[in-house]
Amino acid sequence: MKKVVKFGGSSLASAEQFKKVGAIIRADGTRRYVVPSAPGKRFSEDTKVTDLLYTCYRAADRAKFQAVLSEIKSRYQEIIEGLDLTFSLEEDFQVIEENFQKQIGEEYAASRGEYLNGKIMAAYLGYEFVDPAEMIRFDGNGQFDAEITELLVQKRLDGVETAVVPGFYGAKENGEIKTFSRGGSDVTGSIIAGALDVELYENWTDVSGVMVTDPRIIQNPKVIDTITYRELRELSYMGATVLHEDAIFPVRKAGIPINIKNTNAPDDPGTMIVEDTCKKPPYTITGIAGKRGFCSLFIEKSMMNSEIGFGRKVLGVLEEQGISFEHIPSGIDTMTVFIHQDEFTEKEQQVISGVHRAVKPDYMELESDLALIAVVGRGMRSNRGTAARIFAALAHANVNVKMIDQGSSELNVIVGVRDEDFEPAIRAIYDIFVETQL
Ligand code: ASP
Repeated sequence: MKKVVKFGGSSLASAEQFKKVGAIIRADGTRRYVVPSAPGKRFSEDTKVTDLLYTCYRAADRAKFQAVLSEIKSRYQEIIEGLDLTFSLEEDFQVIEENFQKQIGEEYAASRGEYLNGKIMAAYLGYEFVDPAEMIRFDGNGQFDAEITELLVQKRLDGVETAVVPGFYGAKENGEIKTFSRGGSDVTGSIIAGALDVELYENWTDVSGVMVTDPRIIQNPKVIDTITYRELRELSYMGATVLHEDAIFPVRKAGIPINIKNTNAPDDPGTMIVEDTCKKPPYTITGIAGKRGFCSLFIEKSMMNSEIGFGRKVLGVLEEQGISFEHIPSGIDTMTVFIHQDEFTEKEQQVISGVHRAVKPDYMELESDLALIAVVGRGMRSNRGTAARIFAALAHANVNVKMIDQGSSELNVIVGVRDEDFEPAIRAIYDIFVETQL
């Protein structure tokens, strides 16, 4: 049995956190491949080392450069001393400083956070340090190359009992360092787990799993025990921030579950993310997420229903303007398109005239400051009355529902509400399904 374990930045922000991580790894001999992030925030106003590295690399003058560099050095030194290691990053820092001065690349700069933390972690655990530049491959255009990477990871880690592989970056064939987008150590962990076909990918963070809803709206929301990849995708798309989006594919492809765990409460079971499960969720719904900042374009034309190509022509106008749409609820002679407000505002007049030209509507209306809320749950398909409960709760909370869309997967119900009703609506839905468990 083998596991890949990835630790996020807050789990590795200080020597004290490193010690917790060390204890977690030593407690289970199957935790053989460790993927560390760079040191994150130690307290809420702190700066992540990755951000310090970007600042340092872009520093306009020598004094600023030196000041930020020594701040970075002392972050690592503090960890090394706190762990009582007789180990020095001095040589590594010399190389980094030279490369920064040569301005060899911003992605190289950002990647050093994980690289250095990986070196400390390997020394602390007595695991082999394996540089992902050797095996996480990006092609000539800077796109991640999954196929070659899989082969390289299998080859490089073949026979390696235990290893630390820093997250977040890889390299092109010519050695140029490339990073994933922010939060990308999740992706590295998933790639290694998928390539080695391990039993489990543990993703350690600072919360005890995926929460039913946003803790900024509901204090201490319940943690989801088991969630499917599809449910997670729906929730993440609607704003839940749990894992990097690209971290799902490599493990999902290999049928490997992900366990989200809390470094600060390692005995909590966390959340299992799985392909499918017979386990019934304790509530009919699995989660609630939402996004603000939408507007709607309402279009009316009599006999629209029999006009072939009407929808295509409207969407064609959006496409021409480079605007993506979110939902299109439609009636007999009406159609509404939900669009991201920030994408739309600048081009609204072009869209209006474009739609006039394309379909000659009888009437059009714009509405702004809308929010969308997704109520997600695999349990909804087999339960009667879920929609009734959602709308009863919203009515009770005096929330006016502007739009309803039940996804064709029957995995979610999406409601559109006015921006000021966003939080009360989420609270009402959470309350009826989770608190009162009606
Ligand atoms: N250190 C990188 C970031 O801050 C990557 C990661 O932590 O996953 O985005």
